[in-house]
Amino acid sequence: MKKIFVDYKKCVACKACEIACAIEHHPSHSLFGLLGDKKTQVNVRVLAVEHEAFPVSCRHCDPAWCMDACPSGAITRDNETGAVILNPDLCKACAMCAMVCPFDAISFKETHRAKYGRDVAYKCDLCNERLKNNKIPACVEACHSNALTFEEFEPLRNEKAVKSLKVYLMNKEDMPKHIELFRELRKKEFAARRGEKS
Ligand code: SF4
Ligand code: SF4
Repeated sequence: MKKIFVDYKKCVACKACEIACAIEHHPSHSLFGLLGDKKTQVNVRVLAVEHEAFPVSCRHCDPAWCMDACPSGAITRDNETGAVILNPDLCKACAMCAMVCPFDAISFKETHRAKYGRDVAYKCDLCNERLKNNKIPACVEACHSNALTFEEFEPLRNEKAVKSLKVYLMNKEDMPKHIELFRELRKKEFAARRGEKS
């Protein structure tokens, strides 16, 4: 089974992954369709603070904290691809999933995928339909600096590191530093939003 690997050192914060994701998940499947559309859904987000950048999205954890926490069965796994999928029509917007996700990978708003016109949880679906058509995830395809790659995960399953959260921000050589950098960047991002100096 393949997963998206992140090598933040190669990320140049061009945000091509974010745009590709938005186009992929928009009913128009076009850049122009996104303009001014508040229901646009972007499942990957590039944290860019000071001179560092970090593309982050759902790690499709196994086991998945969000799936275990959801009281309405809105989150399930596609056993064929390993993707953790959120069904917006079953979502009650209770935010249990968001509270337990260690990567802040779940957001809330009204999206085109929700039938009933209300705020719901949304997250990366690993471009599950693309995978079933033998394509790679849109963000990976759009990343020309190879910060995002789509690679076989199974060889890593036997490694001790898989028991740790750190494996999920996956860069094979540099796993332990990933989660620390991510958290550091999030702190700086929140401080910047509040207008504070970090
Ligand atoms: S949303 Fe968070 S907890 Fe759920 S699979 Fe993705 S990274 Fe893991
Ligand atoms: S917000 Fe929706 S998907 Fe998340 S736990 Fe609640 S019902 Fe489940």
